[in-house]
Amino acid sequence: MSYDASNIFAKILRGEIPCTKVYEDEFALAFKDIHPQAPVHILVIPKGPYVSHDDFIGSAPDEEIAGFERAVGKTVAAAGVINDGYRLIANCGVNAHQEVPHYHIHIVGGADLGPMLAKPAK
Ligand code: AMP
Repeated sequence: MSYDASNIFAKILRGEIPCTKVYEDEFALAFKDIHPQAPVHILVIPKGPYVSHDDFIGSAPDEEIAGFERAVGKTVAAAGVINDGYRLIANCGVNAHQEVPHYHIHIVGGADLGPMLAKPAK
């Protein structure tokens, strides 16, 4: 799948639509999910044009991958969820119901998150 620069996260990166920013550096932008599914629900996106995790890992320079991973860690710390625990989720492709085709990590926490999947996949 090629990158579609009209996706909503690309628009956020270009400043065309607003977001509630939590953290930003040269590699990543973190902002609150517009439809939170936990008391803490933050999205972290790389600044480069990558569709999904496999695209990012396969195409991005090592410096960008390391910078993005560190940005996820800094966002987790800024969100204050380290002590009580949290979950990182990356939905990739159709089976994972990825809605926005710009790679992103969900950080969810602030409460007991229950089992990993809402229902077992068969
Ligand atoms: P995914 O299914 O992993 O692609 O999740 C996309 C996420 O983006 C969903 O949790 C949406 O609520 C969130 N989202 C969509 N549009 C916006 C927006 N404009 N600002 C913040 N979060 C958004």
